[in-house]
Amino acid sequence: MNSMPRATIHLSNIVANWLTLDALHPGTTTAAVVKADAYGLGAVPVARALLRAGCSTFFVVYLAEGLALRKALGLGPRILVLNGPRPGEASTYKGAQLTAVLSNRAQAAAWATAPKGSCAIQFDTGMNRLGFRGLSAEDAAGLRKLQPVLVMTHLACADDPGNPMNARQRADFDAICESFADVPASISNSAGCYLGRGWGYDLTRPGIALYGGSVPPEGVTIRPGVTLDAEILCVSDAKAGETVGYGATQTLTEDTRLATVSIGYADGLLRSGSGKLLAYIGDVACPVVGRISMDLTIIDVTKAQDKAKAGVRVEFIGEHAKLEDQAARAGTLGYELLTGLSNRVERVYA
Ligand SMILES: *Cc1c(COP(=O)(O)O)cnc(C)c1O
Repeated sequence: MNSMPRATIHLSNIVANWLTLDALHPGTTTAAVVKADAYGLGAVPVARALLRAGCSTFFVVYLAEGLALRKALGLGPRILVLNGPRPGEASTYKGAQLTAVLSNRAQAAAWATAPKGSCAIQFDTGMNRLGFRGLSAEDAAGLRKLQPVLVMTHLACADDPGNPMNARQRADFDAICESFADVPASISNSAGCYLGRGWGYDLTRPGIALYGGSVPPEGVTIRPGVTLDAEILCVSDAKAGETVGYGATQTLTEDTRLATVSIGYADGLLRSGSGKLLAYIGDVACPVVGRISMDLTIIDVTKAQDKAKAGVRVEFIGEHAKLEDQAARAGTLGYELLTGLSNRVERVYA
């Protein structure tokens, strides 16, 4: 019996990545964004490991995620819920000591009359997504009365350091912060942490970099948060001129040794990576040939020779198959590749 595709989650690398980001901004609190089940790697084990390493602030998106995390971590660490409260939820936030991120007037108005829990306020400085837009003196006075523990905004172009939008958003946020002089402020996600010394503010909010994604600047090393591998089911020799897979989309130009691997798009191996992704046997790169199917993927193992045989595990994300490189081959980002790993992929914590 063959085994399932497996994601081995390297908690020690995730902790090391958090420490690396923390060291970039001395004097700044480094939080951890563990929304979407820590980008698919498991919010509870990831948050527990980071808590032990000294991380005391966590971000999730939904109330349900916040409640689950609070139950797992106990009281003590701060948990902020990015989408903020829906009508009637304020007392649940208070009961679980979750910090509500308020992003609009309706939320702020409801919060003002609710049993007092802790809140943060999000401003929109260019995403046009979530957050208060424009700030009258009257708005500022009303929001100050809520005694926010954090004011924050989110950068649209932090992964493009030369983009003038970064400085523009920063200037707008600085102007907002003047109305909240004694309130800690936060602007940077992972990519924002790479923009330089001044971008730490009081608190940074990295997510993807903790899990091995992002494109760090020279001198910053981010380690893989996960290794995704799967087992070879069989190996066969195909002749030049034969085709491979559904749609017969790829014709072999020479005699080729093929291996059929037990992983497919139902596991989150993106079909857009058909004919483009690389799989690794040890350090030998084996190109994916033809279309990725639901449960199976065919790779060219000609170069791997005797190393390619039934039962051998092949790496699709990890030390060799680098997350962002694989994502780029599939036309996407590390975020989507990680969060798309399905339930069928067995999670193992190392
Ligand atoms: C998801 C998210 C983050 C983390 O972003 P990364 O790019 O993964 O570091 C930070 N802040 C907000 C508001 C987010 O939604």
